[in-house]
Amino acid sequence: KGKVESPNIRAINKSVVHRICSGQVILDLSSAVKELVENGLDAGSTSIEISLKEYGEESFKVIDNGSGISPNNFKVLALKHHTSKISDFPDLQSLVTFGFRGEALSSLCALGNLTVETRTKDEPMATHLTFDHTGLLTCERKTARQIGTTVTVERLFSSLPVRSKEFSRNIRKEYAKLISLLNAYALIAKGVRLVCNNTTGKNAKSVVLRTQGSSSIKDNIITVFGMNTFSCLEPLSICISESCTVEGFLSKPGHGSGRNLGDRQFYFVNGRPVDMPKLSKLVNELYKSANSRQYPIAIMNFTVPTRSYDVNVTPDKRKIFFSDEGLIMQSLRGAIEKIYSPSQCSYSTKKLE
Ligand code: ADP
Ligand code: MG
Repeated sequence: KGKVESPNIRAINKSVVHRICSGQVILDLSSAVKELVENGLDAGSTSIEISLKEYGEESFKVIDNGSGISPNNFKVLALKHHTSKISDFPDLQSLVTFGFRGEALSSLCALGNLTVETRTKDEPMATHLTFDHTGLLTCERKTARQIGTTVTVERLFSSLPVRSKEFSRNIRKEYAKLISLLNAYALIAKGVRLVCNNTTGKNAKSVVLRTQGSSSIKDNIITVFGMNTFSCLEPLSICISESCTVEGFLSKPGHGSGRNLGDRQFYFVNGRPVDMPKLSKLVNELYKSANSRQYPIAIMNFTVPTRSYDVNVTPDKRKIFFSDEGLIMQSLRGAIEKIYSPSQCSYSTKKLE
């Protein structure tokens, strides 16, 4: 007596599961737009435009000039775990695309209203596609468009009431985070023209980011941050092992930035923007020995074999597991210490192009 009855275990309704899980893949505005930009890059685009309405709260769209999507893929395009990028586990070891789990479009369907316009080089016309919240294709009609793809998401998070309120309340913060993320792609994406614009109220579109699609990181830095900032950076080229190198730029000792907002440090692994909190901490700590009042700007790209790290650690793919993290951190410490120690003034100045 008094014992609680054992409840029955039942399966959760599929569409509810979908909604719950999608909220873990798409965390905020920047993770949503990131997925679409990465899809554009994976499709070989040389031009990607991100167009926001009300800072992304009302809608956002990503317009690319990549391969387009062929009609035989329309039905499965937004189904969960449907991808053209991997088909078996070993494929992950040689992954060269940003995407691989086939979750982004399916998750965006669950969280907002998704439409796609796309055309491949084999089609004379484009097709406009509408999907429902479960990822099913509900409407298909012909339309005019150049080769490439436009994905539009309206009212992100409208299916998650609590998140939706938070989203509206924090929209300016979400927007700032998005711009910082787009800066990361603008720095690293060689030969891809990136444009981002925002429309609010009855105002005309305002362009918030525009790059020329240069093939050098140096030019991209000048475009994004300006010549003044670039001239305060020192090129960096570190060879950690036979198969692992790091190239990039670091603030010169006397020329940091007053801010430590994390929006001036960019880390990449084989051109993939990632979070590296440990490395960022190390860079800040070493910079302190040379300049205790400011924080360094840091842009570093690791070139490593695809089999030596795992990107499938967090749903947003921003975290990386390196198999030799210890060695990497140790070598970086040595190399950066050399730059910032007052007694040493010779270091590698190989140009990064
Ligand atoms: P993933 O990128 O992990 O494969 P997504 O849900 O982001 O999963 O996309 C599903 C599939 O849709 C991709 O594998 C790709 O074939 C296709 N796709 C999505 N966006 C584009 C695009 N902009 N251009 C061409 N194909 C696309
Ligand atoms: Mg993708």
